[in-house]
Amino acid sequence: MLVDDSTRQALLRSLPSIDEVLRSGVAEELSRTAPRWAVAEAARRAVETARQQILRGESDGRSGLERAVADLPHEVESLLAPAIRRVINATGVILHTNLGRAPMPRKALERAVEIATGYSNLELDLETGLRGSRHGHLARILRQLTGAEDAVVVNNNAAAVLLVATALAAGREAIVSRGELVEIGGAFRIPEVLSAGGARLREVGTTNRTRIGDYEAALCPDSALLLKVHRSNFAVVGFTEEVGIGELALLGRRAGVPVVEDLGSGAMMDLGRLGVGSEPTAAAAIESGADLVTVSGDKLLGGPQAGVIVGRAALVGRLRKHPLMRAVRPDKLTLASLEATLELYRDSRGVDQVPILAMLAAKAGDLRDRAEKLARLCREQGVAPFAIQVRQSTGKVGGGAQPLTELPGFALVLRHTKRSAVDIEAALRRNAPPVIARVSEDAVWLDVRTLQGDEELDLVARAVGRIAAEGS
Ligand SMILES: *Cc1c(COP(=O)(O)O)cnc(C)c1O
Repeated sequence: MLVDDSTRQALLRSLPSIDEVLRSGVAEELSRTAPRWAVAEAARRAVETARQQILRGESDGRSGLERAVADLPHEVESLLAPAIRRVINATGVILHTNLGRAPMPRKALERAVEIATGYSNLELDLETGLRGSRHGHLARILRQLTGAEDAVVVNNNAAAVLLVATALAAGREAIVSRGELVEIGGAFRIPEVLSAGGARLREVGTTNRTRIGDYEAALCPDSALLLKVHRSNFAVVGFTEEVGIGELALLGRRAGVPVVEDLGSGAMMDLGRLGVGSEPTAAAAIESGADLVTVSGDKLLGGPQAGVIVGRAALVGRLRKHPLMRAVRPDKLTLASLEATLELYRDSRGVDQVPILAMLAAKAGDLRDRAEKLARLCREQGVAPFAIQVRQSTGKVGGGAQPLTELPGFALVLRHTKRSAVDIEAALRRNAPPVIARVSEDAVWLDVRTLQGDEELDLVARAVGRIAAEGS
């Protein structure tokens, strides 16, 4: 309802001072649990919001004080909410970069808590009592898992590529196929990372075809690196040809030039075993003769953000000693949680305890059951303005991995009688906790593949119930 000018002036005069709001019963109640700064700031915001509503001519019969006081609990809550919050991923995209990539195994987190809440031997050699190196801890388990001679962990895989370029090829040439000059997203582009590391890019071959002879012809005394980049986030089909890591490794060996493969999403185990499209593993690349392999920690490995570099001891040693290493070194939380994640692979407990592997392996029949369970839970909440259906949907690996892989699954599909799908998607996103859904065919899709446990089914059902109640 819009009001005339004199009512508006009267309403503006009825606006309370911030002190008046703070003296209200609601403010006093809030002050019992919320910190003083938050209640004071909330009061200031609540008065300002009320002023803006009145200036826009909105009226619902309430005075300025009533409006401001009514707004207070919500303002306090939003001021105290953490900036980084848990959200529920109902997109069906397993490695969602916007949503923090891989959810970590519980065991990995427990290890991080143990190491981070107390002291640790991060840089102490417990045998000798002398200063140790943080870079040695994960070498043994990574050697075991990949067959490499040595390993080192850095902050992320982008840092791994930058470190390799800087330590091994600064001022010299890195040879890369034109079909592998990849952009991973945002600012990470292979040519730019090489140049940031001071290496000169020597492109060979063409977008669709590169042969071993192309690499061979580019070799010169200035060649420092033969770099192969896994096309994790796109595919080239049709008239194509590329050089496998094995063949490249033979050439590198003959020429005395290190061969590095950036696997990016590369897996720690053969994903074919989960019934998903296969993904090259670090172990296979080492077996084929790669001198160094770099892998992301929070893509298909399913652990914390990290860059894992495995390969020849002499090269890993050069990386460890390079000054840039200090700038890209991982912290104790990363090392502890990554080690615990790797133990799950080493001890073959991977599939059920690494959340992303469980999501990848989920069977369509089980997903249908879960979607039907979610539908039931929603109906129990009362979903009158919604039409709900269980439908087949397609999940994705995400995180720039296996772009062509479609994971057949199931989703709950919501249509509201009055509100648009875009509007419902936004309402779910503003829920506490936020539920991130997909809009397609003018409906909201809640894919159950990426919902974890019964707890998340419940939370989603309650969010749907809340929105249903608003609109009925
Ligand atoms: C993802 C990816 C990167 C970057 O890894 P981050 O862990 O995100 O830093 C580098 N190279 C390839 C091939 C990738 O897929």
